[in-house]
Amino acid sequence: MALIVQKYGGTSVANCRRIKRVAERVISRTEQGDDVVVVLSAMAGQTNYLTDLALEMQSNPDKRELDVLLSTGEQVTIALFSMAVKAMGHEARSFLGYQVPVETDAAHSKARIQNIPAEKLKNALNNGIIPVVAGFQGVTDSGDITTLGRGGSDTTAVAVAVAIGADVCEIYTDVDGVFTTDPGICPTAKKIDRISYEEMLEMASLGAKVLEIRSVEFAMRYDMPIHVRSSFTNTPGTMVVKEDELMEDVLVSSVTYSRDEARITISKVPDRPGIASAIFKPISDANIIVDMIIQNARAGDLTDMTFTVSRADFDQAMSILEETASQIGAESVAGDKKIAKVSIVGVGMRNHAGVASSMFDILARHGINILMISTSEIKVSCIIDEKFTELAVRALHEGFGLDKE
Ligand code: ADP
Ligand code: ASP
Ligand code: MG
Repeated sequence: MALIVQKYGGTSVANCRRIKRVAERVISRTEQGDDVVVVLSAMAGQTNYLTDLALEMQSNPDKRELDVLLSTGEQVTIALFSMAVKAMGHEARSFLGYQVPVETDAAHSKARIQNIPAEKLKNALNNGIIPVVAGFQGVTDSGDITTLGRGGSDTTAVAVAVAIGADVCEIYTDVDGVFTTDPGICPTAKKIDRISYEEMLEMASLGAKVLEIRSVEFAMRYDMPIHVRSSFTNTPGTMVVKEDELMEDVLVSSVTYSRDEARITISKVPDRPGIASAIFKPISDANIIVDMIIQNARAGDLTDMTFTVSRADFDQAMSILEETASQIGAESVAGDKKIAKVSIVGVGMRNHAGVASSMFDILARHGINILMISTSEIKVSCIIDEKFTELAVRALHEGFGLDKE
């Protein structure tokens, strides 16, 4: 008998028929003798719909109220699911974030989970009741509702799995597992049977939305195995687990992309000590995360600095930088939102030279210009013109042989 957390994403609970089907799956698992705690997302599209409603009221919606609004999406699915289970003659009980409670800090719209007492969920299980937890939401010490950031139900699921000491956290989604690249844009993508936490973390940070970043961080920290699989079939999916030696044999295990990128250049900056700090401190004070940075020297003690931020932060970063530019005597600030980041990931890269240059070669052969580059031990990323995103992903996927079995 195993203790399992099962999380079902938006497409898996998109309507009443699918919710009933998920209820059947969960019940059949409990009938095999396993204890199951269910974590649900909102119905597909619902969180976007609620966000649009908020934008009708305020151009920059109040964060506390936005969390109150967005958390209702998950409230609907956990109630409907519990009803479906009861209609099938079994017991279930829904738990909103504050009822578990999923305790978080007060950073509305990107709250971090601090603690999840397991007692109520365990009591339910001991009484033969299936606990059904609302994903994506939590509560602060002062009782305010928070949300964890988009895709946050994955994080709820892994955190609940850690809290109750589950054997595995199963993430059910609309694809068969984690693929060598997004199967949505590359038809030759292949399912990966096993992947290390580290590679999965890189993939998630570089744009593969199949698992939310923090869920992988949690799993890695507490060594909680994640099984990513389809809610529409019974085929085994991908196990996200600790790295083993076999994984190192694979040089490049996946290709990822992100269109959530924007590039800003500040030109003809007087080059003197302290200039980078003068440019980046006001940006970090505004809680804007800077990703890649390039500095180019010019003649006459002048320099250009180019960096990337997420598109959502672009306008704010531009206006902060324009202010800085006038203070430090830089000539101009320019921005570009039509860029994308393509990356290759693989733990095998640690011990092999030449992977980055193969990537540059593949992009060059397809006529794709590289605007910026960054590397780490297990990944290489290139910023390119957004219009080449799909071409680049497919070219790299094929170029590194990921389309072969
Ligand atoms: P859910 O609603 O179940 O949480 P998501 O939409 O958040 O599902 O994540 C699943 C989607 O992630 C897939 O439909 C797929 O298009 C996308 N995706 C991107 N990269 C990958 C990848 N490497 N492997 C699998 N899916 C990926
Ligand atoms: N419903 C939330 C979202 O769409 C959380 C989730 O689905 O994981 O982002
Ligand atoms: Mg998701």
